[in-house]
Amino acid sequence: MICNNKECAKEFDAKTHNQKYCCDECCRVATNRRIMEKYYEKKAIKNGAFRGCKSCGSKLSRYNKSEVCAVCEKNINAMSKKNILGMINEIS
Ligand SMILES: [Zn+2]
Ligand SMILES: [Zn+2]
Repeated sequence: MICNNKECAKEFDAKTHNQKYCCDECCRVATNRRIMEKYYEKKAIKNGAFRGCKSCGSKLSRYNKSEVCAVCEKNINAMSKKNILGMINEIS
């Protein structure tokens, strides 16, 4: 058997058929690394994989720095422009 810990990869005599590591330390190191890999995977998903538009809930591009999608942003801009125009009309 060869130790499943990549940094060790030492040949050893397995006492049981499912023994994957030469020693407890290698087992611990390898298990910790697996946990960390899972953690970073989850973190990556959280950071970039999915952000929803605050207005319609559709997926936002990773490059979109605003909280709403391009379509909603356009609608919001059009609406606020109308509001401003309306206000100006009211005044004059
Ligand atoms: Zn080992
Ligand atoms: Zn939207």
